[in-house]
Amino acid sequence: MKREIKLILLGAPGAGKGTQAEIISKKYSIPAISTGAIIRAAIKNGTEMGLAAKAYTDSGALVPDSVVIGIIKERLAEPDCERGFILDGFPRTVPQASALDEMGVEITDVISIEVADEKILERMSGRRVCKNCGATYHVKYNPSPLGDKCACGEELTVRADDDPEVVKSRLVTYHEMTEPLKDYYASKGKLKTVEGQEKLEDTTALVSAALEA
Ligand code: AMP
Repeated sequence: MKREIKLILLGAPGAGKGTQAEIISKKYSIPAISTGAIIRAAIKNGTEMGLAAKAYTDSGALVPDSVVIGIIKERLAEPDCERGFILDGFPRTVPQASALDEMGVEITDVISIEVADEKILERMSGRRVCKNCGATYHVKYNPSPLGDKCACGEELTVRADDDPEVVKSRLVTYHEMTEPLKDYYASKGKLKTVEGQEKLEDTTALVSAALEA
């Protein structure tokens, strides 16, 4: 029997967390939970939370801790999380990590995918997303089989927060607010670090090795 996995993926925006989360999700049959995707869905659906979050996400700022902690609390209470899960994009601040601890969530693994800022800027400019099913592609590194259309048939788009100026400010936020989480989890003996590779399958191999080590 495979061991229980309650994994946090850390890494800068565009480091490949979402793609790796989807791959691990399929491999271990556990849900990949992206607070960013939940927020984008709320914005698309025009919910109260979505309306409140939009200004933050569009400018590359973090949504307030209380909002994302509420989102995660609700999501982790769903029955599909009982056998494990992958968190992609949460926690992003030390107070969010403390909130997880206070909820009594026992994280088994934390993997940080390391990618240099210059590489991130190059990657983000080629990222394409599907507004219909949420799939993400990269024009060079992970192209859609249907070119500028998603595998589901919908036209692919560029996320507003993937604009280079917004990406730069997201990187500053990442280094200031999220990177301290590496020390937070290293001090608990949970942190593993993986160098993000050019090819996503090479990163997948390293992430799998880290999980199985
Ligand atoms: P992502 O798809 O993970 O890059 O998230 C997109 C945007 O959603 C971020 O730039 C933030 O504005 C917001 N967001 C997602 N997760 C969090 C989080 N844990 N804390 C604060 N803001 C978040």
